[in-house]
Amino acid sequence: MIKIPLQVIIDKIKEKTGLTDKEIQSKIKDKLDLLSGLISEEGAAHIIANELGVKIFEDPGKLQIKNVLAGMRNVELTGRIVKIYETKNFEKENRKGKLCSFLIGDPTGIIRVVAWNDKVDLLTKMKENDTIKIENGYAKENNGRKEVHLGDKTKVTFLQETIEVKETTNERKKISELKGGEENVEIMGAIVQVFDPKFFEVCPECGKRVREKEGEFVCEQHNAVSPAFSYVFNLFLDDSSDTIRVVLWRNQAQKLLGLTNEEIIERKEGTFDEVKNDLLGKIVKFSGRATKNEMFERIEFVPQLVFTDLNPEEEIERINNEIKEPLPEEKEPEAKKPDPIVKEKVEDISEKDDLLEEIDDIKDLDSL
Ligand SMILES: [Zn+2]
Repeated sequence: MIKIPLQVIIDKIKEKTGLTDKEIQSKIKDKLDLLSGLISEEGAAHIIANELGVKIFEDPGKLQIKNVLAGMRNVELTGRIVKIYETKNFEKENRKGKLCSFLIGDPTGIIRVVAWNDKVDLLTKMKENDTIKIENGYAKENNGRKEVHLGDKTKVTFLQETIEVKETTNERKKISELKGGEENVEIMGAIVQVFDPKFFEVCPECGKRVREKEGEFVCEQHNAVSPAFSYVFNLFLDDSSDTIRVVLWRNQAQKLLGLTNEEIIERKEGTFDEVKNDLLGKIVKFSGRATKNEMFERIEFVPQLVFTDLNPEEEIERINNEIKEPLPEEKEPEAKKPDPIVKEKVEDISEKDDLLEEIDDIKDLDSL
């Protein structure tokens, strides 16, 4: 069953028939009155579309990301990879497998893509900024978000072209408003404290954290490896409402520091004092998610995007505009997400929220 929002149906009827919004709404209302209590507004809109010979849903074929709807099959999308998450192995009853997920974007939006088993192998060479074409994927909804899954019939092709990706405008929050659990929010403030980056060993093949066992670094998948390094960089941001610890993983740390991966690794044994001094007092904007670190009973911010070249006028205008908006009503508390520590035991692997994946690492690193 494909979930099509009412407005999409109305727009489609408008486009195909030339009727106005008002005319369509009135037809929907008549139908609702006639079938009182039997159908929803969407249901009524579907009936109207049907009566008018308007096909709401054709084989989607080539789609823009914003037009993907949960339930669609034969989805064809072209997008640029903007973020790749770690590959996960899972074991459930007698079924073993792996999945990886990543985000792709086009000029209309960004969507999460999930690959399973042999499709994961196919994608081991993908890098951020690669452009890929997905044919015959299927769309699902997971925790209220749409995502595209790559199944047995899905074909994935790497393209040479570069695709423009919509810049997401996230909701701006004051640090004091964050409760932990918010996604796609934006904060802006001054850097008031900076820590040395923490380095840790990762598998050079899959990028997963590896630990030393009897003098060897062992990856679950690739056995003994000669480790590569990754890092996490922590700082405190102050926006005058409060301060918050910001946790920047490799790519975001590079962006903030203005250094390449190699330049950061080179300094591993040296000093970051100069870099740290340059950052103090700097005004930056982060967009990402706020998470609750249960172990330390504090809220942390994990940026996905880092903005260092800010246009002050634009920012001030934006703040002024947002202040004029009425205060949002108190929202109901969100359903508790599965505890990341027991996530491997979650009943349905497809329900797992990969965005929580790095939390374990944060805890590990704090205890270093
Ligand atoms: Zn590995």
